[in-house]
Amino acid sequence: MSHVKLSIIGSGPAGYTAALYAARADLAPVLFAGQKSGGQLMWTSDVENYPGFPEGITGPDLMSNMRKQAERFGAQIIDQDVTAVDFATRPFKLWTATPADTTVEPAMTADAVILALGAQSIMLGVPGEREFLGRGVSTCAVCDAAFFRDKRTYVIGGGDSAMEDTLALTKFADSVTIVHRRDQFKASKIMQARVLKHEKVTPRWNTALKEIRGDEVVKEIVLETAGTTETVPADGVFIAIGHTPTSELVAQSVELDTHGYIVTRQSVTKNGVALASAALSDTGLVAFPTMTSVDGVFAAGDCVDVRYKQAVTAAGQGCSAALDAERWLESQE
Ligand code: NAP
Repeated sequence: MSHVKLSIIGSGPAGYTAALYAARADLAPVLFAGQKSGGQLMWTSDVENYPGFPEGITGPDLMSNMRKQAERFGAQIIDQDVTAVDFATRPFKLWTATPADTTVEPAMTADAVILALGAQSIMLGVPGEREFLGRGVSTCAVCDAAFFRDKRTYVIGGGDSAMEDTLALTKFADSVTIVHRRDQFKASKIMQARVLKHEKVTPRWNTALKEIRGDEVVKEIVLETAGTTETVPADGVFIAIGHTPTSELVAQSVELDTHGYIVTRQSVTKNGVALASAALSDTGLVAFPTMTSVDGVFAAGDCVDVRYKQAVTAAGQGCSAALDAERWLESQE
């Protein structure tokens, strides 16, 4: 068993950025990247909105660069999943055995931990959905709308994410059809109104997406309305039926909000505001904003972020978490 000052769990933009900053602060961080390292960007073809790459960069290349940059400054990266944690006492304990077994010695102990566990888009599970991901199927219109200039696009869902994706697409696409399984949206009234009055948008109520078909890219989709199926031409399909934060690993160890997001002092939720108020220092600043409900455990990126969920915001939070962890560790000496 080894002991480190700082361990980071997760290898998306938040985790790698935290590792880069922590390594440059001489904390000799160890990052558990998981067996499938790189996070959601590994499913993304072109990333055009990450600053610093005027010609764009592929998701896998961006993640590979981030990893190399962290390693260059001495971050140790282990391609294993953390399967169990114990944050009840310090040092914190991390296990990597599968299945999880906390009766054996932990793989590592750490004085501080940064959770950068990410999130996953909820998928429909219909034929063609995984196959065409990045080739006409997307889970982020804010990221990919510009690739659909003058195209026929479909958004699946009826919540605020679906409304947001629809509005992002109207700037580029020729048409946006919102396919929703009920006869009214769940989204906030203001978002619904904006979407429904847009000339490019058509809602398709009581309808389910059954299949996505194509060759190199998406060509058509199969829709079902009241038991009748119809095949329609399509260039883009945006799945917007929600996200699940990847927080099961720590569900018993740190506070989560009702949707499973890890609560920190900068979470934009009621729970986050309560944690922040309790951490308000005499100087009028919230101490260690990325700290979770457990002192010494920090969290960053999509596992925390209810609102923005962008690579650049996750990277920014990873930086904040590393700086907070560094200062917190100093305060413990
Ligand atoms: P959400 O509110 O849970 O909405 C998910 C939508 O997808 C619902 O309309 C739901 O249908 C539909 N859906 C779920 N599973 C489905 C399935 N298997 N097949 C077909 N449709 C399915 O998720 P969200 O839109 O991602 O929003 C999550 C949270 O983030 C919300 O609190 C939201 O307000 C917030 N958010 C805010 C903003 C903003 O303020 N700008 C932007 C995005 C998200 P039903 O309606 O039938 O349940």
